[in-house]
Amino acid sequence: MDFSESPDHRVFRESVREFCKRYVEPVWIEIDESGVIDPDLVRRMAENGIYALTLSEEYSGQGGTFTEAAIAGEELAYHAPALSLAVLFIIQSSWPYVFQLYGSDEARSEVLPEVARGRAAIGIASTEAHGGSDVSDVRLLAVREGDEWVVTGEKSMVSLPGVIESLPWGGGWFTIARTGDPRAKHNTITDFLVLMKRKGVRDGSISFRPWTEIGRKGLDTSVVTFNGTRVPDAFRIGDVNGGFRIAMEGFNLARSMIGAITVGSARWMLDAGREWIKQRVVFGKPIASYQAISFRFADLAKELEAARLLCYKAAWVADKYYVERDGSVDLGDVALYGAMSKLKCAALAVEIGHEVMKWFGGAAYYKETPIVRAWLGALSYVLGAEGTENMMRLIIARRLIGREYV
Ligand SMILES: Cc1cc2nc3c(=O)[nH]c(=O)nc-3n(C[C@H](O)[C@H](O)[C@H](O)COP(=O)(O)OP(=O)(O)OC[C@H]3O[C@@H](n4cnc5c(N)ncnc54)[C@H](O)[C@@H]3O)c2cc1C
Repeated sequence: MDFSESPDHRVFRESVREFCKRYVEPVWIEIDESGVIDPDLVRRMAENGIYALTLSEEYSGQGGTFTEAAIAGEELAYHAPALSLAVLFIIQSSWPYVFQLYGSDEARSEVLPEVARGRAAIGIASTEAHGGSDVSDVRLLAVREGDEWVVTGEKSMVSLPGVIESLPWGGGWFTIARTGDPRAKHNTITDFLVLMKRKGVRDGSISFRPWTEIGRKGLDTSVVTFNGTRVPDAFRIGDVNGGFRIAMEGFNLARSMIGAITVGSARWMLDAGREWIKQRVVFGKPIASYQAISFRFADLAKELEAARLLCYKAAWVADKYYVERDGSVDLGDVALYGAMSKLKCAALAVEIGHEVMKWFGGAAYYKETPIVRAWLGALSYVLGAEGTENMMRLIIARRLIGREYV
């Protein structure tokens, strides 16, 4: 067992840090304030290997591992702790990767090089208002007409429409639709890549109703209505009615990296808290000298170290399965560690943010003290994004106790 980073990983982390100090740190508050990510920054991220990092070189990608994605995600989140850029990065390192595994040759060669170059983004359109956490309760309908599918219905929380609109090529969503009798639940679900800037899509067949988000504001989220949107069969992902299992792979991979980005943001919050308690003098002494504060700091630092180990284990398990094709690890392990890591790290980031804000006292209530921006970013993953806490518990319990009991 070796807990040190390999020389390659150290160099990679350092290069991401340098990039972040130059291009990310100076703009993160502006992104959180304006809700806009500059497409030039996305292009620059891609040029520096910090965008769709896991896409293969065949599609102009980096061919990077999930461990590298965790390293880059942690650093991006440390330097832009409101998380918009880090979330964009992990979405592009998970959903396009699954599309690469299961998409048609034609669709992959059209879309993936654009994603790899930072000219496009692919999001996930899964959640529906009535179904929520029950991803199998899909009502978005896809009906085949010749070489096309006609998609009709609504997804209730879909991130990235504004980002996709702003990028030169665009992009779209890994979209989960019903393609048969709904009573068959998981077994009549098919995935499609629905592109936003494709001809016929923007002329009224997709419309957006944006939510007003409280955090990670660079990533917009909308209700998306598909009104007879035409999708070529070449943009079906995997087999007809085989979409549920494939979509779960995307969620598992995203969750395998969410731990790392929430740890990055938590690390920034705790560092900011440490510097504050050392210099804030009340009753004649720095507040770090009161054990009510320094002991809380110690507990959170200990928890953060434990969470960090878990998030890198999740990435390591994903690498074992997808990169090394190591037979000792299966898809259930990827799901298990992704769920454990997301559950642990996101909750801890929120706890750390909450505690650090108390150390700042009243000043924390004003956005001039930016801890609240980081706290709200991590909160998205506690409340629901990529699955609620109870859904993570369900995955863990099913794997470790058995599906027949849970
Ligand atoms: C910032 C943000 C971005 C998002 N982006 C996207 C996106 O890009 N694409 C997308 O498809 N979705 C997106 N979502 C939606 C997200 O996937 C959902 O919020 C999530 O799946 C939960 O669904 P819900 O919000 O309807 O909660 P519900 O399913 O209604 O859950 C409400 C509560 O009930 C609990 N609960 C439900 N069922 C059970 C059960 N069986 N046992 C125990 N507890 C249960 C849940 O844990 C939760 O606490 C986003 C959400 C957020 C907050």
